[in-house]
Amino acid sequence: MIIHQEFRDLGRPNLGIAAWAVPSLVRYGTREQQERFLPGTFAGEIVWCQLFSEPGAGSDLAGLTTRAVRVEGGWSLTGQKIWTSLAQYAHWGICLARTSPDRPKHDGITYFLVDMASPGVTVRPLKDINGDELFNEVFLDDVFVPDDLVVGAVDEGWRVARDTLSHERVALGDSWGPGARHTDMARHLARLPSLREAQRERAGRLWAEGQAISALGLRVTLSQLAGADPGPASSVRKLLGMWHAQEIAEFCWSLDPSDRYWSRMILTTRAFTIGGGTTEVQLNIIAERALHLPRDP
Ligand SMILES: Cc1cc2nc3c(=O)[nH]c(=O)nc-3n(C[C@H](O)[C@H](O)[C@H](O)COP(=O)(O)OP(=O)(O)OC[C@H]3O[C@@H](n4cnc5c(N)ncnc54)[C@H](O)[C@@H]3O)c2cc1C
Repeated sequence: MIIHQEFRDLGRPNLGIAAWAVPSLVRYGTREQQERFLPGTFAGEIVWCQLFSEPGAGSDLAGLTTRAVRVEGGWSLTGQKIWTSLAQYAHWGICLARTSPDRPKHDGITYFLVDMASPGVTVRPLKDINGDELFNEVFLDDVFVPDDLVVGAVDEGWRVARDTLSHERVALGDSWGPGARHTDMARHLARLPSLREAQRERAGRLWAEGQAISALGLRVTLSQLAGADPGPASSVRKLLGMWHAQEIAEFCWSLDPSDRYWSRMILTTRAFTIGGGTTEVQLNIIAERALHLPRDP
Protein backbone atom coordinates (compact mmCIF):
# COMPACT_ATOMS: atom_id res chain seq x y z
CA MET A 1 0.00 0.00 0.00
CA ILE A 2 2.77 2.40 0.94
CA ILE A 3 4.76 1.63 -2.18
CA HIS A 4 1.61 2.09 -4.23
CA GLN A 5 1.01 5.50 -2.69
CA GLU A 6 4.60 6.66 -2.99
CA PHE A 7 4.76 5.64 -6.65
CA ARG A 8 1.38 7.08 -7.60
CA ASP A 9 2.79 9.73 -9.92
CA LEU A 10 5.17 7.40 -11.72
CA GLY A 11 4.27 5.33 -14.73
CA ARG A 12 4.52 1.76 -13.48
CA PRO A 13 4.58 -1.47 -15.44
CA ASN A 14 1.14 -2.87 -16.16
CA LEU A 15 0.99 -6.52 -15.10
CA GLY A 16 -2.11 -7.09 -17.22
CA ILE A 17 -3.91 -10.34 -16.44
CA ALA A 18 -1.23 -11.17 -13.86
CA ALA A 19 -2.76 -8.49 -11.64
CA TRP A 20 -5.55 -10.98 -10.91
CA ALA A 21 -3.73 -14.26 -11.61
CA VAL A 22 -1.01 -13.54 -9.04
CA PRO A 23 -3.33 -13.12 -6.01
CA SER A 24 -4.84 -16.53 -6.75
CA LEU A 25 -1.39 -18.10 -7.11
CA VAL A 26 -0.43 -16.58 -3.79
CA ARG A 27 -3.57 -17.89 -2.13
CA TYR A 28 -3.98 -21.29 -3.77
CA GLY A 29 -0.68 -22.08 -5.55
CA THR A 30 2.05 -24.37 -4.21
CA ARG A 31 5.32 -22.94 -2.99
CA GLU A 32 7.01 -24.38 -6.11
CA GLN A 33 4.48 -22.65 -8.38
CA GLN A 34 5.01 -19.36 -6.57
CA GLU A 35 8.79 -19.62 -6.79
CA ARG A 36 8.64 -20.62 -10.43
CA PHE A 37 6.24 -17.95 -11.66
CA LEU A 38 6.08 -14.91 -9.41
CA PRO A 39 9.57 -13.39 -9.80
CA GLY A 40 9.42 -13.59 -13.61
CA THR A 41 5.91 -12.17 -13.61
CA PHE A 42 6.87 -9.19 -11.47
CA ALA A 43 9.92 -8.60 -13.66
CA GLY A 44 7.66 -8.43 -16.70
CA GLU A 45 9.30 -11.49 -18.26
CA ILE A 46 6.20 -13.67 -18.07
CA VAL A 47 3.04 -12.42 -19.77
CA TRP A 48 -0.21 -14.16 -18.76
CA CYS A 49 -3.54 -14.69 -20.41
CA GLN A 50 -6.83 -15.90 -18.99
CA LEU A 51 -8.36 -18.94 -20.69
CA PHE A 52 -11.77 -18.85 -19.03
CA SER A 53 -14.53 -17.75 -21.47
CA GLU A 54 -15.76 -20.11 -24.15
CA PRO A 55 -18.21 -19.67 -27.03
CA GLY A 56 -20.95 -21.19 -24.85
CA ALA A 57 -19.75 -20.02 -21.44
CA GLY A 58 -19.31 -16.35 -20.59
CA SER A 59 -21.52 -15.00 -17.81
CA ASP A 60 -22.41 -18.60 -17.06
CA LEU A 61 -18.75 -19.52 -16.87
CA ALA A 62 -19.35 -22.72 -14.92
CA GLY A 63 -21.04 -24.09 -18.05
CA LEU A 64 -17.63 -24.43 -19.71
CA THR A 65 -16.98 -27.56 -21.74
CA THR A 66 -13.20 -27.66 -22.28
CA ARG A 67 -12.28 -31.14 -21.09
CA ALA A 68 -9.22 -32.28 -19.15
CA VAL A 69 -8.65 -36.01 -19.32
CA ARG A 70 -6.23 -37.86 -17.06
CA VAL A 71 -3.04 -39.05 -18.79
CA GLU A 72 0.23 -40.29 -17.35
CA GLY A 73 1.89 -37.54 -15.31
CA GLY A 74 -0.86 -35.00 -15.88
CA TRP A 75 -3.82 -33.98 -17.98
CA SER A 76 -4.74 -33.60 -21.62
CA LEU A 77 -6.85 -30.51 -22.38
CA THR A 78 -9.15 -30.16 -25.39
CA GLY A 79 -11.62 -27.37 -26.12
CA GLN A 80 -12.07 -23.82 -27.37
CA LYS A 81 -11.62 -20.57 -25.51
CA ILE A 82 -12.62 -17.12 -26.77
CA TRP A 83 -12.08 -13.42 -25.96
CA THR A 84 -8.68 -14.36 -24.56
CA SER A 85 -6.93 -11.01 -24.19
CA LEU A 86 -3.24 -10.92 -25.11
CA ALA A 87 -3.10 -14.67 -25.85
CA GLN A 88 -0.93 -13.96 -28.87
CA TYR A 89 1.76 -12.46 -26.59
CA ALA A 90 1.27 -14.61 -23.49
CA HIS A 91 3.78 -17.15 -22.25
CA TRP A 92 1.37 -18.75 -19.79
CA GLY A 93 -2.37 -18.97 -19.36
CA ILE A 94 -4.61 -19.57 -16.37
CA CYS A 95 -7.12 -22.06 -17.69
CA LEU A 96 -10.34 -23.68 -16.48
CA ALA A 97 -11.25 -27.13 -17.72
CA ARG A 98 -13.76 -29.78 -16.72
CA THR A 99 -12.15 -32.75 -15.01
CA SER A 100 -15.31 -34.50 -13.78
CA PRO A 101 -18.13 -34.10 -16.30
CA ASP A 102 -20.49 -36.21 -14.20
CA ARG A 103 -20.43 -33.92 -11.20
CA PRO A 104 -22.60 -30.77 -10.78
CA LYS A 105 -21.22 -28.07 -13.03
CA HIS A 106 -19.45 -26.02 -10.35
CA ASP A 107 -17.81 -29.07 -8.79
CA GLY A 108 -15.93 -30.77 -11.60
CA ILE A 109 -13.75 -27.88 -12.76
CA THR A 110 -9.97 -27.65 -12.29
CA TYR A 111 -7.68 -24.62 -12.56
CA PHE A 112 -4.57 -25.20 -14.69
CA LEU A 113 -1.49 -23.23 -15.71
CA VAL A 114 -0.97 -23.76 -19.43
CA ASP A 115 2.29 -23.15 -21.27
CA MET A 116 1.12 -21.24 -24.37
CA ALA A 117 4.05 -22.71 -26.34
CA SER A 118 2.73 -26.26 -25.78
CA PRO A 119 1.97 -28.38 -28.84
CA GLY A 120 -1.77 -28.25 -29.55
CA VAL A 121 -2.30 -24.56 -28.65
CA THR A 122 -3.55 -22.43 -31.59
CA VAL A 123 -4.20 -18.70 -31.19
CA ARG A 124 -6.28 -16.67 -33.67
CA PRO A 125 -6.61 -12.91 -33.09
CA LEU A 126 -10.01 -11.17 -33.29
CA LYS A 127 -10.52 -7.52 -34.19
CA ASP A 128 -11.97 -5.10 -31.61
CA ILE A 129 -14.30 -2.17 -32.26
CA ASN A 130 -11.33 0.23 -32.08
CA GLY A 131 -9.36 -1.69 -34.72
CA ASP A 132 -6.90 -3.31 -32.30
CA GLU A 133 -6.42 -7.03 -31.95
CA LEU A 134 -6.55 -7.41 -28.21
CA PHE A 135 -8.41 -10.65 -27.76
CA ASN A 136 -8.28 -14.02 -29.49
CA GLU A 137 -9.79 -17.39 -30.09
CA VAL A 138 -7.65 -20.11 -28.53
CA PHE A 139 -7.97 -23.74 -29.56
CA LEU A 140 -6.64 -26.42 -27.22
CA ASP A 141 -6.13 -29.70 -28.95
CA ASP A 142 -4.84 -32.47 -26.71
CA VAL A 143 -2.59 -30.06 -24.78
CA PHE A 144 -0.54 -31.77 -22.07
CA VAL A 145 -0.43 -30.10 -18.64
CA PRO A 146 1.65 -31.82 -15.94
CA ASP A 147 0.21 -32.46 -12.49
CA ASP A 148 2.39 -29.83 -10.84
CA LEU A 149 0.61 -27.13 -12.85
CA VAL A 150 -2.78 -27.68 -11.22
CA VAL A 151 -3.66 -24.77 -8.90
CA GLY A 152 -5.61 -25.85 -5.82
CA ALA A 153 -7.18 -29.29 -5.74
CA VAL A 154 -8.43 -31.22 -8.77
CA ASP A 155 -12.19 -30.60 -9.22
CA GLU A 156 -12.05 -27.60 -6.89
CA GLY A 157 -10.98 -25.03 -9.44
CA TRP A 158 -14.22 -23.06 -9.23
CA ARG A 159 -13.20 -21.67 -5.86
CA VAL A 160 -9.86 -20.51 -7.30
CA ALA A 161 -11.63 -19.09 -10.36
CA ARG A 162 -14.02 -17.07 -8.21
CA ASP A 163 -11.06 -15.66 -6.34
CA THR A 164 -9.41 -14.66 -9.64
CA LEU A 165 -12.64 -13.08 -10.93
CA SER A 166 -13.14 -10.94 -7.86
CA HIS A 167 -9.56 -9.70 -8.09
CA GLU A 168 -10.16 -9.05 -11.78
CA ARG A 169 -13.11 -6.78 -10.97
CA VAL A 170 -11.03 -4.87 -8.47
CA ALA A 171 -8.19 -4.46 -10.97
CA LEU A 172 -10.50 -3.51 -13.82
CA GLY A 173 -12.36 -1.02 -11.67
CA ASP A 174 -9.02 0.63 -11.08
CA SER A 175 -7.11 0.38 -14.31
CA TRP A 176 -9.63 -0.37 -16.99
CA GLY A 177 -9.55 3.03 -17.97
CA PRO A 178 -5.92 3.13 -18.74
CA GLY A 179 -6.02 6.58 -20.16
CA ALA A 180 -9.65 7.38 -19.19
CA ARG A 181 -9.43 8.38 -15.55
CA HIS A 182 -10.21 11.66 -13.83
CA THR A 183 -6.50 12.45 -13.74
CA ASP A 184 -6.29 11.96 -17.54
CA MET A 185 -9.24 14.33 -17.86
CA ALA A 186 -7.40 16.92 -15.78
CA ARG A 187 -4.36 16.70 -18.06
CA HIS A 188 -6.62 17.11 -21.10
CA LEU A 189 -8.36 20.14 -19.57
CA ALA A 190 -5.05 21.80 -18.81
CA ARG A 191 -4.31 21.89 -22.54
CA LEU A 192 -7.65 23.44 -23.51
CA PRO A 193 -8.87 27.05 -23.34
CA SER A 194 -11.08 27.83 -20.33
CA LEU A 195 -14.36 25.94 -20.03
CA ARG A 196 -17.92 27.18 -19.99
CA GLU A 197 -19.81 27.09 -16.70
CA ALA A 198 -21.71 23.86 -17.48
CA GLN A 199 -18.51 22.16 -18.64
CA ARG A 200 -16.68 23.22 -15.50
CA GLU A 201 -19.50 21.81 -13.42
CA ARG A 202 -19.36 18.48 -15.26
CA ALA A 203 -15.57 18.33 -14.93
CA GLY A 204 -15.91 18.97 -11.20
CA ARG A 205 -18.51 16.27 -10.80
CA LEU A 206 -16.35 13.77 -12.72
CA TRP A 207 -13.32 14.67 -10.64
CA ALA A 208 -15.27 14.12 -7.41
CA GLU A 209 -16.62 10.85 -8.75
CA GLY A 210 -13.09 9.72 -9.66
CA GLN A 211 -11.95 10.48 -6.12
CA ALA A 212 -14.89 8.56 -4.65
CA ILE A 213 -14.12 5.55 -6.85
CA SER A 214 -10.47 5.65 -5.76
CA ALA A 215 -11.60 5.75 -2.13
CA LEU A 216 -13.87 2.78 -2.71
CA GLY A 217 -10.97 0.95 -4.35
CA LEU A 218 -8.81 1.68 -1.35
CA ARG A 219 -11.48 0.28 0.94
CA VAL A 220 -11.70 -2.91 -1.13
CA THR A 221 -7.91 -3.27 -1.11
CA LEU A 222 -7.74 -2.76 2.66
CA SER A 223 -10.38 -5.39 3.26
CA GLN A 224 -8.49 -7.77 0.94
CA LEU A 225 -5.31 -7.16 2.92
CA ALA A 226 -7.28 -7.98 6.04
CA GLY A 227 -8.12 -11.32 4.43
CA ALA A 228 -11.71 -10.60 3.44
CA ASP A 229 -13.25 -11.66 0.13
CA PRO A 230 -13.67 -8.52 -2.02
CA GLY A 231 -17.18 -9.85 -2.80
CA PRO A 232 -19.93 -7.48 -3.94
CA ALA A 233 -17.80 -4.38 -3.25
CA SER A 234 -15.65 -5.39 -6.20
CA SER A 235 -18.78 -5.45 -8.38
CA VAL A 236 -19.74 -1.95 -7.23
CA ARG A 237 -16.21 -0.87 -7.99
CA LYS A 238 -16.20 -2.41 -11.44
CA LEU A 239 -19.58 -0.90 -12.39
CA LEU A 240 -18.72 2.59 -11.20
CA GLY A 241 -15.25 2.46 -12.75
CA MET A 242 -16.74 1.38 -16.07
CA TRP A 243 -19.43 4.09 -16.19
CA HIS A 244 -16.90 6.65 -15.07
CA ALA A 245 -14.31 5.77 -17.73
CA GLN A 246 -16.99 5.89 -20.43
CA GLU A 247 -18.24 9.27 -19.27
CA ILE A 248 -14.73 10.69 -19.02
CA ALA A 249 -14.07 9.61 -22.62
CA GLU A 250 -17.33 11.13 -23.86
CA PHE A 251 -16.83 14.38 -21.98
CA CYS A 252 -13.20 14.85 -23.04
CA TRP A 253 -14.07 14.10 -26.65
CA SER A 254 -17.01 16.55 -26.56
CA LEU A 255 -14.60 19.32 -25.58
CA ASP A 256 -12.50 18.71 -28.66
CA PRO A 257 -14.15 16.45 -31.26
CA SER A 258 -11.05 16.57 -33.47
CA ASP A 259 -9.08 14.77 -30.76
CA ARG A 260 -8.33 11.29 -32.07
CA TYR A 261 -7.16 9.97 -28.72
CA TRP A 262 -10.51 10.62 -27.06
CA SER A 263 -12.64 9.50 -30.00
CA ARG A 264 -10.74 6.23 -29.86
CA MET A 265 -11.18 6.06 -26.06
CA ILE A 266 -14.96 6.24 -26.56
CA LEU A 267 -14.71 3.01 -28.54
CA THR A 268 -12.16 1.40 -26.22
CA THR A 269 -14.20 2.01 -23.08
CA ARG A 270 -17.36 0.39 -24.57
CA ALA A 271 -15.77 -3.01 -23.98
CA PHE A 272 -15.77 -2.38 -20.21
CA THR A 273 -19.54 -2.95 -20.15
CA ILE A 274 -18.92 -6.61 -20.99
CA GLY A 275 -15.37 -7.62 -20.03
CA GLY A 276 -14.76 -8.70 -16.44
CA GLY A 277 -18.44 -9.59 -16.03
CA THR A 278 -21.30 -7.75 -17.75
CA THR A 279 -23.28 -4.91 -16.22
CA GLU A 280 -26.39 -7.09 -15.77
CA VAL A 281 -24.36 -9.73 -13.97
CA GLN A 282 -22.69 -7.19 -11.66
CA LEU A 283 -26.10 -5.67 -10.86
CA ASN A 284 -27.39 -9.14 -9.98
CA ILE A 285 -24.43 -9.76 -7.66
CA ILE A 286 -24.99 -6.43 -5.92
CA ALA A 287 -28.73 -7.04 -5.64
CA GLU A 288 -28.43 -10.55 -4.28
CA ARG A 289 -25.26 -10.52 -2.20
CA ALA A 290 -25.08 -6.94 -0.97
CA LEU A 291 -28.75 -5.90 -0.83
CA HIS A 292 -30.10 -9.42 -0.15
CA LEU A 293 -32.90 -9.02 -2.66
CA PRO A 294 -34.62 -12.21 -3.89
CA ARG A 295 -32.56 -14.25 -6.36
CA ASP A 296 -33.03 -13.55 -10.06
CA PRO A 297 -35.20 -16.38 -11.37
C1 LIG B 1 -12.40 -6.46 -23.92
C2 LIG B 1 -12.71 -7.83 -23.37
C3 LIG B 1 -11.68 -8.63 -22.95
C4 LIG B 1 -11.94 -9.90 -22.49
N1 LIG B 1 -10.89 -10.68 -22.09
C5 LIG B 1 -11.12 -11.93 -21.65
C6 LIG B 1 -10.02 -12.77 -21.26
O1 LIG B 1 -8.85 -12.38 -21.33
N2 LIG B 1 -10.27 -14.02 -20.85
C7 LIG B 1 -11.55 -14.52 -20.77
O2 LIG B 1 -11.69 -15.66 -20.34
N3 LIG B 1 -12.62 -13.76 -21.13
C8 LIG B 1 -12.43 -12.48 -21.57
N4 LIG B 1 -13.49 -11.68 -21.95
C9 LIG B 1 -14.83 -12.29 -21.99
C10 LIG B 1 -15.81 -11.79 -20.95
O3 LIG B 1 -15.48 -12.29 -19.69
C11 LIG B 1 -17.20 -12.24 -21.41
O4 LIG B 1 -17.48 -11.58 -22.62
C12 LIG B 1 -18.23 -11.92 -20.40
O5 LIG B 1 -18.10 -12.74 -19.26
C13 LIG B 1 -19.66 -12.10 -20.96
O6 LIG B 1 -19.82 -13.35 -21.53
P1 LIG B 1 -20.41 -13.51 -23.02
O7 LIG B 1 -19.65 -12.58 -23.92
O8 LIG B 1 -20.43 -14.95 -23.33
O9 LIG B 1 -21.90 -12.94 -22.94
P2 LIG B 1 -23.17 -13.71 -22.37
O10 LIG B 1 -22.85 -14.29 -21.05
O11 LIG B 1 -23.69 -14.61 -23.43
O12 LIG B 1 -24.16 -12.51 -22.14
C14 LIG B 1 -24.97 -11.96 -23.19
C15 LIG B 1 -25.93 -10.96 -22.58
O13 LIG B 1 -26.81 -11.61 -21.65
C16 LIG B 1 -26.75 -10.99 -20.37
N5 LIG B 1 -26.86 -11.99 -19.31
C17 LIG B 1 -26.20 -13.17 -19.24
N6 LIG B 1 -26.53 -13.82 -18.10
C18 LIG B 1 -27.39 -13.03 -17.43
C19 LIG B 1 -28.09 -13.14 -16.18
N7 LIG B 1 -27.93 -14.21 -15.39
N8 LIG B 1 -28.90 -12.14 -15.81
C20 LIG B 1 -29.06 -11.03 -16.59
N9 LIG B 1 -28.43 -10.88 -17.79
C21 LIG B 1 -27.61 -11.85 -18.20
C22 LIG B 1 -25.40 -10.32 -20.33
O14 LIG B 1 -25.37 -9.24 -19.42
C23 LIG B 1 -25.21 -9.86 -21.78
O15 LIG B 1 -25.86 -8.64 -21.99
C24 LIG B 1 -13.27 -10.40 -22.43
C25 LIG B 1 -14.32 -9.57 -22.86
C26 LIG B 1 -14.05 -8.30 -23.34
C27 LIG B 1 -15.20 -7.45 -23.79
